[in-house]
Amino acid sequence: MIKIVDSVVAIDGFSSCGKSTLAKELAKELGYRFIDSGAMYRACTLYFLDNGVDINDIDAVTAALNFIHIEFQNIHGYNATILNGKNITSEIKSLRVANQVSEVATIKVVREQMVKLQQDMGKQKRIVMDGRDIGSVVFPKAQHKFFIIADVDIRVQRRHNELTTKGKTVSVQDVKKNLEHRDHIDSTRKESPLTRTPSHILIDNSYLTRGEQLMVALKHIKAKDRTLVA
Ligand code: C5P
Repeated sequence: MIKIVDSVVAIDGFSSCGKSTLAKELAKELGYRFIDSGAMYRACTLYFLDNGVDINDIDAVTAALNFIHIEFQNIHGYNATILNGKNITSEIKSLRVANQVSEVATIKVVREQMVKLQQDMGKQKRIVMDGRDIGSVVFPKAQHKFFIIADVDIRVQRRHNELTTKGKTVSVQDVKKNLEHRDHIDSTRKESPLTRTPSHILIDNSYLTRGEQLMVALKHIKAKDRTLVA
């Protein structure tokens, strides 16, 4: 475990570019808490789908948000997403949720509630959070910010492998359609679009192994940390 100044590490980027993998590994390396902010938007989406909440009805969405309680728990060494007491980690990765989540993430009241929760989680620092607006909106003053990119076909292959490994039956075409759809909505929406700020460090991991990606990020963190201590 490396020792650095207590910090917030923000990791942003397009869908399936390896953000969560890097965030989890960095958190482990630094001894920090890992928070997957995408899982929070997915949890809201699952709640709306299961409870027949019309996402175009802002009053219904606002009322439903009062019944959504999201937390993260370490279960047998993995970071589980818990919605109202139920472990929904696997369910929220389904295409059923993926096909709706970016629309849900455009809703202002949903974003306001999630951002507040995320900011509360980061009050004590020592956190690595991945998402789309973490370095731009949630923690604009984060000590370390990374923006991860990868070739679209590589991202599709990675997500497809992830889903099939978990026993889900899905075609490469459907995964690609979903990724492109989410990329488009996430980067063009009015509320907190996916943005690379000048302080984000860009990492293209198309041809990097997980280990190499981790080393690149750690190198930047250590170098910046020296300036934070000084
Ligand atoms: O990261 P993940 O693919 O699980 O995120 C699911 C969706 O949640 C994204 O496509 C995006 O629409 C939304 N999201 C967001 N802001 C975040 C994290 C995720 O809008 N900070």
